[in-house]
Amino acid sequence: MGTLAFDADDRWNAFVTICRNAEHGDGPLAGVPVAVKDNISTAGIQTTCGSAILEGYLPPYDAHAVSLLKAAGAAIVGKTNMDEFGMGTTTESSAFGPTTNPVNVAHVPGGSSGGSAAAVASGMVPMALGTDTGGSIRCPAAFCGIVGLKPTYGRVSRYGLIAYANSLEGIGPMAGNVTDVSRLFSVIAGKDPRDATSIDRPYTHTPSSEIRGMRIGVPAEFFGEGVDDSVAETVRTAIGDLEGLGAEIVECSMPSMKYALAAYYVTCTSEASSNLARFDGIRYGPGNESKRSWHDAYQEHRRERFGAEVRRRIMLGTFALSAGYYGKYYSKAQAARTNVREDFARLFRDVDVIAGPTMPTTAFALGEKTDPLSMYLADILTVPANLAGVPAISVPCGDVGGLPVGLQIIGRHCEEERIVDTAFAYE
Ligand code: GLN
Repeated sequence: MGTLAFDADDRWNAFVTICRNAEHGDGPLAGVPVAVKDNISTAGIQTTCGSAILEGYLPPYDAHAVSLLKAAGAAIVGKTNMDEFGMGTTTESSAFGPTTNPVNVAHVPGGSSGGSAAAVASGMVPMALGTDTGGSIRCPAAFCGIVGLKPTYGRVSRYGLIAYANSLEGIGPMAGNVTDVSRLFSVIAGKDPRDATSIDRPYTHTPSSEIRGMRIGVPAEFFGEGVDDSVAETVRTAIGDLEGLGAEIVECSMPSMKYALAAYYVTCTSEASSNLARFDGIRYGPGNESKRSWHDAYQEHRRERFGAEVRRRIMLGTFALSAGYYGKYYSKAQAARTNVREDFARLFRDVDVIAGPTMPTTAFALGEKTDPLSMYLADILTVPANLAGVPAISVPCGDVGGLPVGLQIIGRHCEEERIVDTAFAYE
């Protein structure tokens, strides 16, 4: 890979680290340059999670997905920018500055895997790894006009993925088209004994555009309040096209959507408050030279090196888990999560896949989302799949005012093959 392509990154800031002497090997991805999100561990290559607290951190080992990429012959050409610890929908909360959207640099690329999406959409790399806790692969794929797959929970090992909300998240492929997403997924999927939640379901599928007779559920809630009319219309047209290809459209309802966003934010902040406790200024990243008590040193280090959004979420999660509030928030969130899972189970008895928009709007302008709550609301259509652990893909389906719109297709547990085929048929 020439350095020229990467020098162009000044315009997008897609990479935190560029590996100019990346090596590659033989295998199904021989010589293919792949970008890796910066919360996925790469031995000897800086891995920051977009945070000042991990600046300069060199992991001593590779994430399982990275080992598989290397074994497949891919060249790991760089680590991509992201919202700090994956907390965000714009890639603006990175300690290394925002990434811009290659389609229109006045707009955000989405997040939190915005660097991976921009690296692909700008043409710097054909494929990238992202992670998705509540939409972080699908949102940037939709905003940048590329394809992104959030796999079934556990179908790709989380070994070496630095945890934000471990019960919700996973690593997945992003690329310019469905075939490449499918190729990359076949390399990274499968059981890994080092992640007890990983499942023994390798993926060896070749996309097929045969979707005649497939039943596609369209929940009314995916076109409800907050969804831009023009986005809704674009996605409705795309669903009409799927019908034209022989699929059967089934109008349906997902009442648990009312609680999904609250359930997601209580769960992810609770898990984050626990997972991020390990960043103490001693074990990872830059040290803290303070000669004060360990308690003061710990506090000072975290106050200075965590960004505002991360601190907000640690406080929210600590509150939600505290004695006396646990029953009011955390356990209610888990009950709502069960409702979401049951809604999907009920719908999937009747339909093969569910379709709707990936995001309620097109990409925001840079700096537009200043209020955290309004940013959280943008995740409403992506979080249900994470709460239920089911796979979902976003495929470009047109644009509104020159900005891409994503069609989201959600599948049954471990039925990535089916959503890949639906996306492939549409594409
Ligand atoms: N935007 C969501 C959040 O901020 C999703 C992020 C993600 O999937 N990592 O939590």
